[in-house]
Amino acid sequence: MAVHVFAWPMRATQHVLVIDLMYFVIHINTETFMKSTMQDGPLGLPLLLRHVASVNGRSRVGSFDAQRQRITRSFAELAARAGRLGSALEQRGFGIGAVIGTLAGASPEHLEAYLGVPASARVLHTINPRLHADQIVHIASLADDEALIVDAANLGKFREFAARLPRLRLLVIVGGPLPGDLAASLPYETIDYEALLAEGEPRLDWPIIDEHETAILCFTGGTTGLPKGVGYSHRSVWLQAMSLCTANSLALGSTSRLLPAVPLYHVNGWGLPFAALMAGADLALPGASLQPPDLLALIDAEGSTLAAGVPTIWSDLLAHLRATQRTNLGTLTTIACGGAQVPQSLIDAYAALGVRMLQAWGMTETSSMSAISQTPRWIASADRATQARCAAAQGRVVCGLEARVADLDGALLPSDGASVGEIQIRGAWVTRDYLGLDDQAHLHDGWLRTGDLGTIDADGFISLTDRVKDAIKSGGEWIPSLALEEAIRSHPAVLDVAVVALPDARWQERPGAVVVLTSGHAANSNELAQWLIPRVAKWWLPERWEFVDALPRTAVGKIDKKHVRRLMLERIDAAAPATEPS
Ligand code: AMP
Repeated sequence: MAVHVFAWPMRATQHVLVIDLMYFVIHINTETFMKSTMQDGPLGLPLLLRHVASVNGRSRVGSFDAQRQRITRSFAELAARAGRLGSALEQRGFGIGAVIGTLAGASPEHLEAYLGVPASARVLHTINPRLHADQIVHIASLADDEALIVDAANLGKFREFAARLPRLRLLVIVGGPLPGDLAASLPYETIDYEALLAEGEPRLDWPIIDEHETAILCFTGGTTGLPKGVGYSHRSVWLQAMSLCTANSLALGSTSRLLPAVPLYHVNGWGLPFAALMAGADLALPGASLQPPDLLALIDAEGSTLAAGVPTIWSDLLAHLRATQRTNLGTLTTIACGGAQVPQSLIDAYAALGVRMLQAWGMTETSSMSAISQTPRWIASADRATQARCAAAQGRVVCGLEARVADLDGALLPSDGASVGEIQIRGAWVTRDYLGLDDQAHLHDGWLRTGDLGTIDADGFISLTDRVKDAIKSGGEWIPSLALEEAIRSHPAVLDVAVVALPDARWQERPGAVVVLTSGHAANSNELAQWLIPRVAKWWLPERWEFVDALPRTAVGKIDKKHVRRLMLERIDAAAPATEPS
């Protein structure tokens, strides 16, 4: 919201003050202010693709297909195929702003959709196949998906909700074929991806799109039951990609070879594909597999110099290296690691292999990496305490975004490295709203409340200490505790339940459930797990169950999750066996 205040004369001219409540910034806009001589033009995917075609065409994307055959495409080919996709969708009558969903791995075809769908003035909706079928149906209806691009590896998942997408009118299969029984049962047209591309022209005459329009729609894991939609604009995608290319971030350039070991359905693959296309950095896409031997084969085949991914990916790779007695990572020199707290032991283990691990912090809502732990020059001569704090920190906020600390009532706290509060953030690639939600509880004076607790020091280093968000982050993906509790509570024998995050060496966090049974009813952990199987994603199943007579509560009667978690951790530390009802 903006308040326009017609203000006082300044230097004898009438100036107009615009006080923007979102930003608390005063923009001065006046007819007499000297206009710049600069041209204007929308930032976004069409501009990026024109640059790719005319400057970065020789850079390339490499991957392995489902049969483990190597695929290599130049960026010029990629841009032409993206053009075919956009033009084929247009010819088939998908209008401006039509939403095209994807359910696919990190493949060159998925990347073509990343480019061709938004650059042709449609919206790409990347769907997370790890969501439960009910959640996918919910987000596909909210997004209004009219077509869906599904790869062969995700057909099993697609089958779970195929009949529940009323708005869908085209299914595109990558690396098919579509099983006959499935094809016969679908109420909409299906087509092979390559056949669809053959219908289009390799256009490069992309339309002019207002840079504030949505390019890509991504849903958060959600800390309540339902994922929430974040629409990235053409402008925000462009600015975030530029930020990744800067030296204080990933320093991507035309000599880099980037391996984003991240799913493309999670925060636009952290925005990394766009940054690589902008920089002309070669890209290695892991396809359907993030397994250590496959990642290693990709690093070796593509000569990757820089990789990015969540801690679980890198701890699994480390275990594989140790098991196979391999002591180097070839050409790889740097890993950007984030999405969850990066253990110092992991950073040290990679340092011993000659690979620098940079911790990064960000959220779906902030278009991913918003702070990164590049070390400034002065750290070498700083005192030990400062050095230690910076080494363990999530990083410094990138230029273009701003971060601050506030207590939970919103009162600002000093950035002194000691005052712990909620980290708030704002900027041109931070979301303002969620798709279709009026609720503004995520904002405080226009700043996004991240739900992360921590400190910021005088040099801008963010150090997280805890989370206000009621969720579990397992292997980089969210398990919303409230939704899991609801599914457990729907069992007739369950009176009450609390789900909390338990530390896990491989997945960082796994869910633990503490259950109160209704008197006179019986159910053990095995029975409750069986109950959950058709109701939630399999990887949500609690790792540990405890049964108690009553849950601890706070003074206002809410379940005291901190207390529940402490009780569970005490039992785990004491190596006590999980309880079962007597
Ligand atoms: P998502 O929206 O799924 O990307 O999750 C974003 C959340 O992941 C953040 O708000 C943090 O809670 C967590 N997160 C991301 N990076 C880090 C990090 N380096 N250390 C600790 N937590 C992190």
